[in-house]
Amino acid sequence: ILIMTFFIFWIIALILSYVLTRITMFPIIKSWKQQSEFVNDAAHELRTPLTIIQGKLEYMLTRPKSTVLDEAESISVSLDEVSRLNSLTNNLLILARADQATTKFDFTLTQPDFFIKDPIMPFKDIINSQSKVFQENIRHKVTLNVDRDKIKQVLIILLDNATKYTPENGTIRIYDNLEGSKYQIVISDTGVGIKDSDKKKIFGRFYRVDKSRNRNSGGHGLGLAIAQQIMNEHHGKIFVRDNLPQGSEFVIELPIKHTH
Ligand code: ADP
Repeated sequence: ILIMTFFIFWIIALILSYVLTRITMFPIIKSWKQQSEFVNDAAHELRTPLTIIQGKLEYMLTRPKSTVLDEAESISVSLDEVSRLNSLTNNLLILARADQATTKFDFTLTQPDFFIKDPIMPFKDIINSQSKVFQENIRHKVTLNVDRDKIKQVLIILLDNATKYTPENGTIRIYDNLEGSKYQIVISDTGVGIKDSDKKKIFGRFYRVDKSRNRNSGGHGLGLAIAQQIMNEHHGKIFVRDNLPQGSEFVIELPIKHTH
């Protein structure tokens, strides 16, 4: 009996220790996996522009007598790639700082006008110059506790995407809504739209629906991941739904402090 009891205790201890390790190690393993996926994707994104620049420089070296004018195409392609690298490294830094929780948020009580007007302004001209229509209908007077610069950054990401993924003659609209104790800003477009199966994935790092098309339009698939990080810090939400009959609507939602 003594041996039997000892044996049963031993089996129970073994099972418990296995379950406990699985439970406690699981988040660590998951975050290691996510971290290494992130580094892998980042390295991949860095490699393409670097290879292009290397190719162009090597080509120019084979033509020592040529002038800057002769090499204009190589120089301009290289500069485009450098600017892609610049925006990629900036975005990677934003995400890395958010992961380490070293980003400082400067929360202030404020009204929507104080962070919506600025990001809208440059887009009005860009959108009109691309033969698309821009409409704005921000009308609610509420007080919110936000980091204005960070929310401006979210709006820029969403307006930039709406502009990029909407063809000529399309409409991009920004409006606001009250939803119970939440304030919503909606950016809707009549663009290419997003399949249901992609609606969650697009908020993941480096996720792009159409990788070949987006390389030309300059995206790395980090904008929405950054927007989501910022909204999480605000105890808010970001999500996407269809804009019927055509296009998508991105909604950001923030808790209301006071209604006027
Ligand atoms: P990117 O820099 O590639 O635009 P994002 O993280 O901002 O990266 O967006 C991820 C992907 O979500 C995009 O590559 C695109 O496929 C899709 N997407 C984002 N916004 C829109 C939109 N308004 N309409 C259609 N697709 C969109």
